[in-house]
Amino acid sequence: MFDVIIIGAGIVGCFIAKDLSRYDLKVLVLEKGNDVAIGATMANSAIIHSGHDPLDGTLKAKLNLEGNKMYESICKELNCSFNRIGAYVLATSDEEVEQLNLLFKRAQSRDIPCVLHNKDEIKKHEPHVSDEVVLGLWLPSTGIIYPWEVAIACMEQAILHGVELKLNQEVIDIKKEDIYQVITSNNQYQTKCIVNCAGVYADEIYKMIDPSINFSITARKGEYFVLDHLQQPLVHHVIYPVPSSKGKGVLIVPTTHGNTLLGPTSFEIDDKSAINNTHAGLNYVKDQVGKLIDHIPFDKVIRTFAGNRPTGTTHDFIIEEAKLFSDFYNVAAIESPGLASAPAISKMVVSMYVNKHNPEEKKEYVINANHDPKLNELTIEEKNEFVKKNPQYGRMICRCEKITEGEIVDAIHRLCGATTIKGVKKRVRPGMGRCQGGFCEPLVLDILARELHKTEEEILLDDLGSNLLVERTKHDDEES
Ligand SMILES: Cc1cc2nc3c(=O)[nH]c(=O)nc-3n(C[C@H](O)[C@H](O)[C@H](O)COP(=O)(O)OP(=O)(O)OC[C@H]3O[C@@H](n4cnc5c(N)ncnc54)[C@H](O)[C@@H]3O)c2cc1C
Repeated sequence: MFDVIIIGAGIVGCFIAKDLSRYDLKVLVLEKGNDVAIGATMANSAIIHSGHDPLDGTLKAKLNLEGNKMYESICKELNCSFNRIGAYVLATSDEEVEQLNLLFKRAQSRDIPCVLHNKDEIKKHEPHVSDEVVLGLWLPSTGIIYPWEVAIACMEQAILHGVELKLNQEVIDIKKEDIYQVITSNNQYQTKCIVNCAGVYADEIYKMIDPSINFSITARKGEYFVLDHLQQPLVHHVIYPVPSSKGKGVLIVPTTHGNTLLGPTSFEIDDKSAINNTHAGLNYVKDQVGKLIDHIPFDKVIRTFAGNRPTGTTHDFIIEEAKLFSDFYNVAAIESPGLASAPAISKMVVSMYVNKHNPEEKKEYVINANHDPKLNELTIEEKNEFVKKNPQYGRMICRCEKITEGEIVDAIHRLCGATTIKGVKKRVRPGMGRCQGGFCEPLVLDILARELHKTEEEILLDDLGSNLLVERTKHDDEES
């Protein structure tokens, strides 16, 4: 019997797992995928927004502001990337200037650092800004993170402090007796409390016990281009257009690893699992980004991707204990700024639980962050020290991102370790570069097979069924 079952291991479920692990509780995380951070947390703009955009009085506004203030120290503690690079919201017409002034006042009323810059001032900081731009709102508290690094780091702390993570466990039914029975595709668990963090499927999870559910969630797709590392950065800060009723618009975003994201679109779709790119979506991105920034090098695009926002009918986050079902907490409709708000969402949910149940806090609780070496950030002398101790740190696997065999082996054997090629890519980046895995993917596959004691045919690219190799075409006796 568990005290708490968390359904969904996106950034929200991972933060809640970490924060609950401070207490003497038996906590289980059930995730339908074969890794953590596979939903919206996998595919987004990675921005820790300042909190200027959400409407007054919403949970989005409150938790975004709070989350933005929490991230820097959390990332330091977890040894994760966090860069407070600042952002511009750029207006290109009189109408947009009017809206920008309203945004400016809203930001001021929330004590968010903000300044209006004219075109000349903006050009000093962002030389590629289009001549169409007339005014910019400078928001220096905006940051960027590497989202799945944070989610994985949270889950590792949770596991370290006793939380159980079970992957490949799709929750298919929930029954309420004295306690909750949670039925997954291949098992059954009992718990006193459920925290529903199932992203775009959170409405379907709640519907399992309450068919009279008063909210629903649709998926709003966002498509992106990724640019390779450029010799001269295209932009130094996050670039937003003036927001519209559809959201924050199409952005230009530097990433923590020196790439640039162009996107996202914002279109509601019927199939919540569809994360394909479309011709129309990508063309829309091209049109929109060209209005703000000149000379975008589309010949440097190395990848496209898409993610789906869980958009709720209430247009705000839904964070509440269900009225009819005691100890069933919905943490639903966590669309943007869900990433920026995640630590504050977790704090809110955990406070609700702790205030009601008053669990014992663990006497000894130490954050023990992952400090595996990142060779490409070290001096040659430091690298040599690592290679002397372990020659695997001297074998380059990913030439684009400069990732060694030793780092991949570390990623596989971490607490919440990688079991697939995508899992390795998420943790230490082979395949994230210009060749997109063309050179390193077969080598990563071999390393996974060796370290996990599996055959090469069993190694997955990503989710179940994505085996890259089907069968041997030559056997040892034929080869000789
Ligand atoms: C295009 C796009 C851009 C965005 N940009 C930003 C941004 O720049 N800044 C920002 O703050 N926010 C942004 N967001 C929003 C942010 O990504 C989300 O708010 C956040 O990732 C939500 O996290 P989550 O944990 O709630 O959901 P998810 O990450 O979707 O996790 C839900 C998990 O539940 C699991 N699950 C679902 N059903 C079941 C089941 N039946 N059984 C077991 N497990 C289940 C899923 O597999 C998944 O792992 C963006 C989102 C998108 C899509």
